[in-house]
Amino acid sequence: MPDKNLPTPGLFVTDGLKDLFNSSINQLRADLGRVLTVFFEPTASGCPNCFAGPDGSSNGVYDVANPFPAGQFNKTFPDGATCPVCQGSHKILTQQSATYQVLRKWNPENFDATQYGAVPANVVRTKTDIAARTDFKRAVKAELEGETLVRIVDPIPAGLAPPQFVVAFWKKQD
Ligand SMILES: [Zn+2]
Repeated sequence: MPDKNLPTPGLFVTDGLKDLFNSSINQLRADLGRVLTVFFEPTASGCPNCFAGPDGSSNGVYDVANPFPAGQFNKTFPDGATCPVCQGSHKILTQQSATYQVLRKWNPENFDATQYGAVPANVVRTKTDIAARTDFKRAVKAELEGETLVRIVDPIPAGLAPPQFVVAFWKKQD
């Protein structure tokens, strides 16, 4: 049963106050936020430096139409040699990433780091726009302030309803 002795709902936390709350956090993110980069499982795509043979691996012929400038993904080689870009597999792995401006707190209070096998000082709590939730869920690692991180709990929607933010906890990778 709802508590009938409560005062009028919405009298204090009005839509205007919610907007102020949300815009204030976003202003803090703009003023104090750090860039968190999240990385996803690498995806395989065809090597731009050679052609596929009948079995799908490299046919050992340099692709003169390679759109990349000379370098990591464009290395000439003689016909019949092993493609130096894909080592003959005709596949290259590229790791996708995304960046978010986050508020962060190292060694967050009220968080039991030890149950995740972490030293509290190696744990960081981040807060950013709720749009990051899906990316955070599928991230295989992250980077913040030069530290490589792994996520330790499911990202938690946060803020006044409907949630505008997502909170995540990460620990430094061992
Ligand atoms: Zn290749």
